[in-house]
Amino acid sequence: MRKQIAAANWKMNLSLAQAETLLNELVDSSPTLGAHQEAIFAVPAIYIPLALAKLANKANVFVAAQNCHQKEAGAYTGEVSASMLQSMGVKHIIVGHSERREYFTESDALLAEKVNAILAIHSTPIFCCGEPLAIREAETQNAFVEAQLKNSLFHLSAEDIIKVVIAYEPIWAIGTGKTASSAQAQDIHAYIRSCFASKYGEVVANEISILYGGSVKASNAKEIFSQPDVDGGLVGGASLVATEFTAIINALS
Ligand code: PEP
Repeated sequence: MRKQIAAANWKMNLSLAQAETLLNELVDSSPTLGAHQEAIFAVPAIYIPLALAKLANKANVFVAAQNCHQKEAGAYTGEVSASMLQSMGVKHIIVGHSERREYFTESDALLAEKVNAILAIHSTPIFCCGEPLAIREAETQNAFVEAQLKNSLFHLSAEDIIKVVIAYEPIWAIGTGKTASSAQAQDIHAYIRSCFASKYGEVVANEISILYGGSVKASNAKEIFSQPDVDGGLVGGASLVATEFTAIINALS
């Protein structure tokens, strides 16, 4: 059975005191997670030790990084490597968020290198893909997303691809309050799964968790997560409010 995941992306938000308060509230709220469910918190890198300490001993709860460098070590001032994160206890790293693709000009080829670096140290890439508004309006989103997957992931073996979590995030829905309808989410998630099935076979494709991201909140999570090919969500804004994110975790099917 593939995993159902609620992943929080705090982005570059919160002071240390605010982060501590939010983590305390999340710990107190004790969301219920089944055996095949996970809650993942991608906090700013500087708060990773705090989050690890606060969330220690919580079953199926993990602390993630929002990015890493593609190289293992070296003269890359200001950067953090996947193996450094792993040495702290981080097992999941977001790769290719649309904000990194846009503001840091991360290319598909670079993202392939980051995915390789993360898998090399036995951690889990949470690989983001998704189209801008113009592509959605032209109704070419399937081809656009398929190219992102091909260019950054299809060099992987079947053994490695099932270690990757996919986050489909239409750019027009991120932080805008506009959510894809549950039917739109299901359509493209099914298409993404069919791309994996064509490349790796149905059995492998059915093992891959595909999360939806884009203005998920407590009020719409249950409906989106109930779609057969939606295995949870990657959540920005609503993950900064403990009651909202706890409800989103509880909406996992
Ligand atoms: C995100 O940043 O990955 C995201 C989906 O943000 P939001 O939930 O705020 O749209």
